[in-house]
Amino acid sequence: MSGRVHVVGAGVAGLAAAVRLAEAGRAVTLYEAAPQAGGRARSYFDQALGCRIDNGNHLLIAGNRSALGFIDAVGARGTLTGPGAPAYPFLDRATGERWTLRFNRGRIPWWMASPARRVPGTNLGDYLKALVLRRARPDDRVVDLLPPGTPIYRRLWQPLAVAALNTPLHEASAVLLARVLAESIGAGGAACTPLVPREGLSETLVDPALTQLRQRGATIRFGVRLRAIEFAAERAMALDFDDGREMLATSDEIVLAVTAPVASRLVPDLVAPDQYCAILNAHYRVAAPDGSPFFVGIIGGTAEWVFRKAGVLSVTVSAADRLLDTPEDELAVTLWRDVAAAYALPVAPVPPVRIVRERRATFAATPEQVARRPGARTRWRNLTLAGDWTNTGLPATLEGAIRSGFAAAQILGAGRRDAVEKSLSGKGFGFKVAPPSQPFEPRLCP
Ligand SMILES: Cc1cc2nc3c(=O)[nH]c(=O)nc-3n(C[C@H](O)[C@H](O)[C@H](O)COP(=O)(O)OP(=O)(O)OC[C@H]3O[C@@H](n4cnc5c(N)ncnc54)[C@H](O)[C@@H]3O)c2cc1C
Repeated sequence: MSGRVHVVGAGVAGLAAAVRLAEAGRAVTLYEAAPQAGGRARSYFDQALGCRIDNGNHLLIAGNRSALGFIDAVGARGTLTGPGAPAYPFLDRATGERWTLRFNRGRIPWWMASPARRVPGTNLGDYLKALVLRRARPDDRVVDLLPPGTPIYRRLWQPLAVAALNTPLHEASAVLLARVLAESIGAGGAACTPLVPREGLSETLVDPALTQLRQRGATIRFGVRLRAIEFAAERAMALDFDDGREMLATSDEIVLAVTAPVASRLVPDLVAPDQYCAILNAHYRVAAPDGSPFFVGIIGGTAEWVFRKAGVLSVTVSAADRLLDTPEDELAVTLWRDVAAAYALPVAPVPPVRIVRERRATFAATPEQVARRPGARTRWRNLTLAGDWTNTGLPATLEGAIRSGFAAAQILGAGRRDAVEKSLSGKGFGFKVAPPSQPFEPRLCP
């Protein structure tokens, strides 16, 4: 008989695992150290700004099959919005030039041949050169295969790759970028259609999942931190929380969906990523003009992407370690100049702002760190790992985290193997790449 599944960590990886398992009729207890769920993808009320904001801007695309599968499973598809077309507006701060990258919806990427749709200053050959990524080897860095200094690098590959990998491109893994492109541009333009939460991350990803878990009888416990796992022979025997000990029945199982450093402390001999890159977000309390774009990519500024929300314009800077020590008032002014240019707003006064620096936003997507990603299985029969840092084949993203949660549930017998495997094999024109090696196999947990 199937026992209870103890899912530890209520970020999107843990939520996805819990939802899948509860859907399959398993008894689930979800534990979370924080007072709320969502982990690195959540919304909260900011007292100073007087409104709800997300901890960071998160962009989904229609090709994120696992994330959308999860959002559908919790009945939240209606909470997403977006431009409704695979279109990405850009502003070059150095030249003042504006353009919109417009993918055609189908799999044959004829947009690359259209000067009106592609990036100004590029030609078809520039795009085809990126097919070299299909031959990326584990040690290759992005700049080894996509040489900097070209207009297409500066105006397309750099902004897309830094946002997706959250790592400087002279260090970032070309294999991970190849997989991102295989599941986006390589899957056809429709897959690139951007989607953003209409209200906030919690309203799309977190609250509906908790509601559904409760409806399915799951137990949800907040404010309980797992301090240790007791092991004996091939099994985990007990979970030691800061408020007490949970003995496991013989048929009980664990999905450990905490962050990489916490998992490394809890699981003996676990090798996992241990270097991180920061993300900086600045949320300005200001209304954007009616009809202005959902987001704008900024080339040659300090801000990289600006997102329009209700009463807020939010800036994202990825791989932002260089800005961690910059004083807030300096950042507020510098970033606002970029936002004001993108949304045609006055440069002064600078609106009220909240700056959030997430030092450990994601693991550094370097070849060395990628090699440290463990598979979902461990040497303990009843302990399975999940999280954006496990070996999903993707960078640390919502899509990767949710896929890891689904994979963990699948190992425990919930969910169809073909569904996850299908989403693990990049399909489509051009950027087709092999699925990650052994995504479900035990690795690095000797
Ligand atoms: C600012 C920012 C911007 C981002 N932008 C994007 C984006 O645009 N697109 C995108 O796809 N991704 C983006 N990401 C990445 C994305 O948010 C993460 O990949 C994803 O949320 C990770 O989910 P997770 O469940 O793996 O981990 P987490 O969200 O970190 O969840 C782990 C959970 O475990 C809990 N926990 C930890 N220790 C314990 C313990 N001992 N006991 C119990 N619970 C514990 C934590 O509190 C946490 O809730 C961004 C991340 C940040 C920080």
